[in-house]
Amino acid sequence: MAKKLQAVRGMRDILPDQTPLWQFVENTARQVFQSYAYREIRTPVLEMTELFKRSIGEVTDIVEKEMYTFEDRNGDSLTLRPEGTAGCVRACMENGLLHNQVQRLWYQGAMFRHERPQKGRYREFKQMGLEAYGMAGPDIDLEVILVTARLWEALGIPGLELQINTLGTPEERTAYRARLVAYLQQHRDQLDEDSLRRMQSNPLRVLDSKNPDMAELIAGAPSLMDDLGETSRAHFEVITSGLEAAGVDYVLNTRLVRGLDYYSRTVFEWVTDLLGAQGTVCAGGRYDGLVEQLGGKPVPAIGFGMGVDRVVGVLQELGFDDGEADPHVYMVLVGERVQGPGLVLAERLRNALPGLRLQVNCGGGSFKSQFKKADKSGARLALILGEDELNKQEAGIKWLREQQEQVSMAHDELADFLKEMIGE
Ligand code: ATP
Ligand code: MG
Repeated sequence: MAKKLQAVRGMRDILPDQTPLWQFVENTARQVFQSYAYREIRTPVLEMTELFKRSIGEVTDIVEKEMYTFEDRNGDSLTLRPEGTAGCVRACMENGLLHNQVQRLWYQGAMFRHERPQKGRYREFKQMGLEAYGMAGPDIDLEVILVTARLWEALGIPGLELQINTLGTPEERTAYRARLVAYLQQHRDQLDEDSLRRMQSNPLRVLDSKNPDMAELIAGAPSLMDDLGETSRAHFEVITSGLEAAGVDYVLNTRLVRGLDYYSRTVFEWVTDLLGAQGTVCAGGRYDGLVEQLGGKPVPAIGFGMGVDRVVGVLQELGFDDGEADPHVYMVLVGERVQGPGLVLAERLRNALPGLRLQVNCGGGSFKSQFKKADKSGARLALILGEDELNKQEAGIKWLREQQEQVSMAHDELADFLKEMIGE
């Protein structure tokens, strides 16, 4: 027997009963981003593998073990994007959007990482994010974080924790790195295999380890704060005091280093305890070094990526139910002669009421069977059109969820009546 076809492991179908919640998150995020005058950019799902190697860095979980990489028919090595920043920077460089100008951009789309699937961690997942280019000061860092705070507010998600840290400049990190390596050397016997390797290649990444056995060691590591110069300190100060002024609570987490290599100075994450180990719903930071790393003139940049799957997961955990997809009205059409006029009447009502969700019974059926379908649809009322009603240019109105007499109403009055009902 042929093998049963199924979705690829770690890749999910989002079924119609869940999509309203997704749409709510996506629409809200879009509105919030646009309220700060960010503009959407769309880039391809596939990029040259080289782009991710050069931007994310060879010594990262993503590039070492998570990318979907393959050769296309020409023998070019391509990769399904694992995150949005690299493609966004590439597109901006290629299209001259970074030259002597400021850009505020947002994106959304599917990302792909070959990780072990679990709650909040999938092989295909969706991110929405922001990128801001050409601004070096702390004011834009603050703005970007305020966007995220406003987003949780707009989504009605309480209790997320903002963690922030600064990674200083590359020079400051060099001084810190030496101290960190000395500490790690001292505790060599407690390092896992990944960390032993990273201690050589990129010691800061040891702090990013997900291995719980390493947690204590990491907690005791020296802090980069001590290596910061005046400018980096002042930059960070503007952000923390700005957050305080705006009433956004934060926690300083000096172990926060982020998984990607291109960050500098500000890094932040929003964390929840509702999703088990997959606690980070949004992560971002400043990446002043990336554009130059990809061959352009240096351009200061900051951004974040939000995991939409995790945000939806949080809303589900909070019992958030957005049942906004059910039809308001189900149109019952009894008799073959009324089908055509029924569809025309439905069009008229949709013209008059753009917010109306009106489902027309297609495929005929008895009065009784159509009512069963009307009931199942979740609609609040049924509009009934039989030959009698049609001759009188009327329709029957039957409430499906409330005890109320069935009434008749002229076609011309229906739009106003339904308008009232849907609250438009
Ligand atoms: P994690 O520490 O959970 O592996 P990360 O540091 O790899 O996250 P980023 O590369 O910063 O994640 O991506 C930004 C956001 O995208 C994350 O904070 C998370 O919300 C989401 N995300 C990342 N990987 C996944 C995944 N496999 N499934 C679902 N969401 C994800
Ligand atoms: Mg990861």
